[in-house]
Amino acid sequence: MKTITQPDEIQSWTMRQRCAGKRLALVPTMGFFHEGHLALMRWARERADALLVSLFVNPTQFGPREDLKRYPRDPERDARLAEEVGVDVLFMPEAEAMFPDGHATWVEAPTLCRGLCAVQRPTHFRGVATVVAKLFVLTNPSLAVFGEKDWQQLAVIRRITRDLNLPVEVHGRPTVREADGLALSSRNVNLSPEERGQAPAIHRGLLHVARLVEEGETDSSLLLASLGKRYAREMPLGRVEYMAAVDPDQLYPVEEVSGPVLVAVAARFANARLIDNILISRK
Ligand code: AMP
Repeated sequence: MKTITQPDEIQSWTMRQRCAGKRLALVPTMGFFHEGHLALMRWARERADALLVSLFVNPTQFGPREDLKRYPRDPERDARLAEEVGVDVLFMPEAEAMFPDGHATWVEAPTLCRGLCAVQRPTHFRGVATVVAKLFVLTNPSLAVFGEKDWQQLAVIRRITRDLNLPVEVHGRPTVREADGLALSSRNVNLSPEERGQAPAIHRGLLHVARLVEEGETDSSLLLASLGKRYAREMPLGRVEYMAAVDPDQLYPVEEVSGPVLVAVAARFANARLIDNILISRK
């Protein structure tokens, strides 16, 4: 496995590969790998001649009072795991190389950034969209793979890819979970043992909503009220930041479950903010 830190170096490497007719896959990450990241890498590996993984804790997607400094990091372990799953190139740029002094250009998709995580994190998605657009330009991949756990992020990336005619297939992959249902996240290490005990309630609650829909409930406000009650009971250490039922592509709130609906939640614990979602379709 090759490790590259310089943007111009990754760009010339990928350019040479593409000129030689190679199909490249990109998996963008912020590191501290878990099975969720590795599942994306294995899936991408099967579909390309070369697999690139970027490891970049992107400062522009963190707000001023967010956990950039506390974000967990272990680049040596990450490099070992990446090599084991067959990554060809690990791109690990410094923040100054990606966003040098004077950087002033942003990529935004404002209609997808009014609700859900954007309410508490108003500049988050413009940071994500900008860094992903830069990574696409630098690595020129045929395909890029993202996790459905970060559904709003995936929707924004699909949108900017279409709107800017970026020649990249964007793929979303299912959320990988612990045995008790908690979505794997690099931030789970910041949960206290007691919080870790309560956090699986997030996913259990989403499954409960799916069951209610299956039984015939279609009123979003009733579904979310029932979810909120469960969270108050089962997860007293987590403050629910939002619970929403939205259109899966456009992300606007839906009042009545008549077609596919995404139910998404965010919960804040003392040192970790966790998100999860479930896609529900009425039979
Ligand atoms: P991150 O390092 O958290 O920015 O995540 C890098 C990529 O891994 C993103 O596309 C995430 O959506 C994806 N990802 C994170 N957690 C999971 C998970 N539990 N299952 C599947 N994909 C995930």
